[in-house]
Amino acid sequence: MQITNSEEKMIALCGMNCSYCYVHHKKKKPCLGCRLSDEGKPEHCRKCKIKDCANEKSVIFCSECPDYPCVLIKRLDKSYRTRYKESLINNMKVINEKGMDYYLRFEKKRLKCPECKGVLNIHHKECSQCGKIFEVVELK
Ligand SMILES: [Zn+2]
Repeated sequence: MQITNSEEKMIALCGMNCSYCYVHHKKKKPCLGCRLSDEGKPEHCRKCKIKDCANEKSVIFCSECPDYPCVLIKRLDKSYRTRYKESLINNMKVINEKGMDYYLRFEKKRLKCPECKGVLNIHHKECSQCGKIFEVVELK
């Protein structure tokens, strides 16, 4: 797979879409995304073993790796499913099976604040503009 635009560039190797990360929407020193600058990036993302591994193997997404889903990805995915009811493995699955455009369109609708049209983050389902919290449907 190739990354062709700035929206796609926001999707990390592991399938996390940094566009919907709460750290990306912080008012002060927001993180620009996994694939971009380290400035504002949380320590666990700067020192991410998954990122190092994927870079070493020169894959654009972890799902291109013959070992996918490896134990590192499974562990992170489990943590996301438990804590945030989101699955990075499912993100990758939808991208690979239904296409990048489908995925990006779905997320834009799913993670849009119903009140002010701001962007919800997947960690807290909280709107980056009005601060309200919402339930969101599952990505599929
Ligand atoms: Zn809002």
